[in-house]
Amino acid sequence: MIDKRTYNRQYYQRNKEKAKAYAREYHKEHRGEANLARKAYSQTHKEQERATGKAYYQSHKEREKEQSRAYYQSHRLEYMAYFHEQRAKLKLEVLTQYCVGEKPRCPHCGITDIDVLCIDHIKDDGNKHRRQIGGLSGNSFYKWLKGNNYPKGFQVLCFNCNMKKRMNGDGQCQNQVM
Ligand SMILES: [Zn+2]
Repeated sequence: MIDKRTYNRQYYQRNKEKAKAYAREYHKEHRGEANLARKAYSQTHKEQERATGKAYYQSHKEREKEQSRAYYQSHRLEYMAYFHEQRAKLKLEVLTQYCVGEKPRCPHCGITDIDVLCIDHIKDDGNKHRRQIGGLSGNSFYKWLKGNNYPKGFQVLCFNCNMKKRMNGDGQCQNQVM
């Protein structure tokens, strides 16, 4: 006398191939039903599935954000050096386009220190023009000049001479060395 489980196992062993073939056939015949069932499940569980997907996205989004934040933190100095270098490069490029001679220098006082040089609106309509191009200044303004193929009406000046020119109101700086 053997118990039912042992009997079943032995029965299965004896008829393994047949059982497998039967399962395959069954699966083939009912494949459409299975698909329909899955679809029906999706229909009735739409909200759950959406919530699961959303939760998955949320948890991974946070993780990714966290990772990129951590990466940025550990590479902050490199990033800053890189951006600083990019800005300096662009400024030199733009100032070179607007300077008299090969190297940017202030045509009034002759200073060549790029850090104190800037782009001046020759006709002193800087504020008006800045408003027209959406309040761009600094790096964005240099980008705009380059992107617009260095339009006319600008020159290189140092901050001092630029300030003096504005104070005099006549568009002239008294520091004329050239
Ligand atoms: Zn100057």
